Amino acid sequence: MTHHTDPPGRSALRARLLERLESTLRRQTGVENRLRHTNELPEKWADRAPLLGDEEVLTELDVEGRHEVASLRAALVRIDEGTYGVCDACGEPIAPARLAALPAAHTCVDCAE
Ligand SMILES: [Zn+2]
Repeated sequence: MTHHTDPPGRSALRARLLERLESTLRRQTGVENRLRHTNELPEKWADRAPLLGDEEVLTELDVEGRHEVASLRAALVRIDEGTYGVCDACGEPIAPARLAALPAAHTCVDCAE
């Protein structure tokens, strides 16, 4: 393992979100082949973003899949910005149990209702 400046847990969290994002894309018809034909996925999210955010890929997803991809990509951006786990609406921390169930959640339970 290499040392870097990420706070504890951040890399693991990003990896988990990426994994979920990729599995969402793989579930969709036609996308799996496209991903398989790329030789190796780059290590860094910034390098993967163009592939996973490819508009042609996204048009193959159903509405629910597109929504999930958008949420996961937004969560990855929030991790990079250091705002992940903070409610968009009220600014309070989102409960860990909620994030565990919904890693892409961007509001606390109170604001989600
Ligand atoms: Zn809130």
